[in-house]
Order: sequence, then structure tokens, then C-alpha cells
Amino acid sequence: MKKDISGMTQLAGVIANPIKHSLSPLIHNTAFSILGIDAVYLALEVTETNIQTTFDSVSALNMLGANVSMPYKGEAYDFVDRHSEEAKLTGVVNTIVPHNGKMIGYNTDGIGFIRSLLDKQVNVKDKKVTVLGAGGAAKAIVAQMALSEVNKITVFKRQNETFQETQQMFLGIGQQTGVSIDVLPYEEASLMKQIIHQSDIVVNSTNIGMGETSLACPILDMSWLKHQPVVVDLIYYPEKTLFLMEAEAMGCLVINGLGMLLHQAAASFQLWTNQPMPVKEVEKVLLEKLRKGE
Ligand code: NAP
Repeated sequence: MKKDISGMTQLAGVIANPIKHSLSPLIHNTAFSILGIDAVYLALEVTETNIQTTFDSVSALNMLGANVSMPYKGEAYDFVDRHSEEAKLTGVVNTIVPHNGKMIGYNTDGIGFIRSLLDKQVNVKDKKVTVLGAGGAAKAIVAQMALSEVNKITVFKRQNETFQETQQMFLGIGQQTGVSIDVLPYEEASLMKQIIHQSDIVVNSTNIGMGETSLACPILDMSWLKHQPVVVDLIYYPEKTLFLMEAEAMGCLVINGLGMLLHQAAASFQLWTNQPMPVKEVEKVLLEKLRKGE
């Protein structure tokens, strides 16, 4: 991607650690280039010692805005002056938007998820959803589904030292939105089978299916999907996890995490530029890169 950088060029970027292998620079710089916006987006790998200075730089450098990724999403929440509704619910911020001298914090991961489903004509409104795993991504999608009039959400999480605290956090989202959200032990196979049988949508938000676990599935028995719910895997590399391949073979509509990645970026992009990201064109460039395995 060739770009003429001038004195007018504006800066955006993602603040995280590690972040050098992020796809966000490719996504945003491709969009800037297609739309002729004079801006660059960088991966800003920052140590804990420098995080507050870096956040302050968003204003000091008159940046268009910034994304924040792990492990600084919670600190970004504390840094900003105001929070969007979904950021308040999740307690994390992945997008900082300067506005009239103040910093506004958003969490666009959840809206990215909802839009990636809408792309496939799947609306979460009134649906019963099972979410496998209860980490950062689960928190964002559960909060956004709760704001999108979902009927009921059941989250399965391993029963370890973080179980109770995580359960309380999800219960809090349920109380604030009036949506029924249960957190149940991942180890309870018969309970999981029963809940999945009643679900319209099943989402894998665990890490199972990528890297060393690419030959594993997040559920014990694929026959639990015989009623053909929509099956979503937040993983996008591999493009189709074993879970999605097997669910598709059973007749389920399957959706991977690439749409979520693109749409969360698009939501941030629009907040900074007031312009919609050309998602389809950016997707082509992204797929080309992922398929080359770079
Ligand atoms: P995270 O915060 O580390 O959470 C991972 C969750 O998976 C935790 O709840 C963890 O359980 C659970 N888990 C991990 N291994 C497990 C196993 N063997 N059995 C049962 N549960 C297991 O990670 P995250 O940020 O939420 O990301 C989760 C997945 O979503 C990753 O694959 C990531 O690549 C993907 N993701 C995609 C997008 C996108 O835009 N498409 C965005 C964010 C994340 P414990 O709570 O018990 O530790």
C-alpha cells in the first residue's frame, strides 16, 4: 500500500501489547486509501509504564482516534471522560474517540458481532443464545446482544477460580438490561446438551479451534446440533474451524469471526471519520492476506 504522507496526514492506531501482528493496520489503511482519507493507522506496542502517557497522546497529537486491545481495555475505560452504553455494561473500551476536547470510550466488538450476523440475515432479537466461553469477547457480544433484545443468553464457563466473579459480572449485565443471562459450568455436559437443544444460536467464544487446538471442538458431541441452530465461531483463522465444518455438515448455517473483526473496525472507523468503511472491499484485501497465510 503506497501512501503520500504530508504535514496534513492524521494519525490513528491501536494501542496494545503485543500488537505487531494485528490485522487492524491493514483494515484501516486499506479503508483510508479506498476513500482517499489522508490518515495513517499504526500498531502502537506500548509497555504498562507508558500506557497513561500514550492515552494522553491521543489528545496531545490530535489523533483521529485510537483502538485499544489487550491488556489495556480496562485502563482505557478508566482513562476516557465518557462512556457509551455498551462500554458501561462491559467495563471495557476498545475505541477512543476525541470529541470537543473530551475522550469518549466505546466497545465496538459487540456491534461488530451483531452486524456480522445481520450480514447473513441472522437477527438476535427474541433468540435464545448459547455462548461457549466467558472471556473478553464473550463479554462484549453478550452485552450487545442484551441491548439488541435477545430473548435469553446462557454462557458456559470453566468452573475455575474466576467462575464466581465472571458469573456476577454477567448477572450484572442481565440486571441492567432486563435480559435473562445464566452462567453455567462448562463441565456439565448434560446441562450443556439440554441448553444447546433449546438454542437458536450457538457461539464459540473459547480459543478452541485455533492453533494447537485446531483439531478440537468446543462441544463434546456434534449431535447436540441436530436441530440445526445457527453456529458462530469467533475464530477467523482458520477460516472454518473443525466446529464450523462439522456444524455445516449437519445442515447448520455457520458464520466465522471475520465479519466481527471487520465490522468492529468499521464501527470505530465511522466514529473517527463520520464515513462508513467500504467493508466488502476491505474484506477482499483481508481474505487475500489470510489465505496467503501471512
Ligand atoms: P479470553 O478473554 O482469553 O477468553 C477465552 C475464554 O475461552 C475463557 O472464558 C476461557 O475459559 C475459555 N476457554 C479457553 N480454553 C478453553 C477450554 N479448553 N475449554 C473451555 N473453555 C476454554 O479470549 P477472548 O479475547 O475472549 O477471545 C476468545 C476467542 O475469540 C479467541 O479465539 C479469539 O481469537 C476470538 N476473538 C475474535 C474476535 C473477532 O473479531 N472475530 C475478537 C475477539 C476475540 P476460562 O474463563 O475458564 O479461562
